[in-house]
Amino acid sequence: MSSMATLFTVNSPELAPQLASRFKGHVVALTAVADLLARLYSDRLSGADNYERDLYLVVYCEPKRSAQDASPPASSTLDTLSAAELAHLLEKQFPCFNLSVVTPERAVPAIAELDNYRAKYTQRLTRVTTWMYAKRHDPCSVNMYSMISHLTQVRHSNTEKPRRSYARLISSSLDLRKLIQLPQGKSDDHYWKLLTTWDFCALSLSTCELIWCSYLILKKLAIDADYVISDNDLFLLLLTLETSYHQGNKFHNFRHAVDVMQATWQLCCKLQLHFPKDASVLLVCVAAIGHDLGHPGTNNALMCEENSPVAQLYQKASVLENFHTELFLDLLQDHWPQLLEDRRNVISDTILATDMALHSQYIDQMDEAPSQQPTFLSLIIKAADISNVTRPLEISAKWAVLITCEFNECAALVRELKEGSAEYDAYNTEYDQPLPESVDSILEKFPSIPKGQLIFINAFAEGLFAGLGDYFEELKFLHHNVQANKKFWEGKL
Ligand SMILES: [Zn+2]
Repeated sequence: MSSMATLFTVNSPELAPQLASRFKGHVVALTAVADLLARLYSDRLSGADNYERDLYLVVYCEPKRSAQDASPPASSTLDTLSAAELAHLLEKQFPCFNLSVVTPERAVPAIAELDNYRAKYTQRLTRVTTWMYAKRHDPCSVNMYSMISHLTQVRHSNTEKPRRSYARLISSSLDLRKLIQLPQGKSDDHYWKLLTTWDFCALSLSTCELIWCSYLILKKLAIDADYVISDNDLFLLLLTLETSYHQGNKFHNFRHAVDVMQATWQLCCKLQLHFPKDASVLLVCVAAIGHDLGHPGTNNALMCEENSPVAQLYQKASVLENFHTELFLDLLQDHWPQLLEDRRNVISDTILATDMALHSQYIDQMDEAPSQQPTFLSLIIKAADISNVTRPLEISAKWAVLITCEFNECAALVRELKEGSAEYDAYNTEYDQPLPESVDSILEKFPSIPKGQLIFINAFAEGLFAGLGDYFEELKFLHHNVQANKKFWEGKL
């Protein structure tokens, strides 16, 4: 993946050549805001650039308003936005991107400031440290992603009256379906076949295909539950979810979110006899695709130990899960408010249930009344969240590689923070190697995986899946699968 600071000019006069040269030719001239949005989405979907690895600038020439027309136009369109509004829109729609917006008059100082901060973004570990530990009031006017600024922006939009949402504006201006490019000759039938088995492998799908699969599931569930959302609005919601996950995380990314949603949905299908005829399945599946929103690719312990501002806000309790919930409720308020009308607690309760620190509490509740809500839905999403170990061995082993890589990255971060071992420079995760294809080659490259898998299975997975299988005949297969995988790993010790 190429990654290099890009300068976008929108509706702007040509910039001085010496400014453009600071971006080494990465200058993209666009005539309208809609073109900018389409470009950002399609680069992200194709993998051309994820807009997280460098700092990017949009030079935007505001539309002229006549003197007597001082108030904003009554019917705003994408091309009547002020620079501040465009900055706000980009923050809401592309939360994880490092995009700053300036007017042409401000371009020179902004580019100088950008240069000062770019060094911070050259290494993955320095970037993750910034996400987690940056303080709220960074005096810098350059927009660099941090969890605290993301949360501050979300909290601010909840206090705005009237609340500003750009979702409608965007979905009425762009045909979003056109951005989702699927491989030729693949029909919906093909994707349904993948989605309706436990052999589903999110790792073999492109980002566009992941969005398409999510669209198919959610569209169907919305119709079943009699919840109305247009295709274009649903695509925009899914695109916004995708841009709210860090694409560079090895494990906790949009792919994991879609995998957990598919698993959640399949578990709901198998347990349909236990479901009331209401919107529960839709709600828990929606919760699943948002359950790790904005995940930094680390963990609660790292958030708390170094006293990150986000950990302080949540008093160190379920820090990440509270963070995901708060961001996701805000996103749904903009994109699908009907879901929050009377059962918003289903979404927050189930996301909070994914905190593994609470695992034993849920195991205890399972022994009491597993089929009663809210325990029932929480157990389903928990099972889906750790369902990697119940997938067929070839798929399970690939997920194990990814979580191992993420753990190794956390370990490097700890060594750097605690011991100052200067791993920032030595550690290079930018080099994205393709996943090994066979289990044998995985074992060869990652010899610690059998031990790691067994620790996880013994500590968490086996108890949960055995318990679920005892109570629900329909879920016995999960316990069988985890036992088969366990046996295999034991043979490799
Ligand atoms: Zn998860």
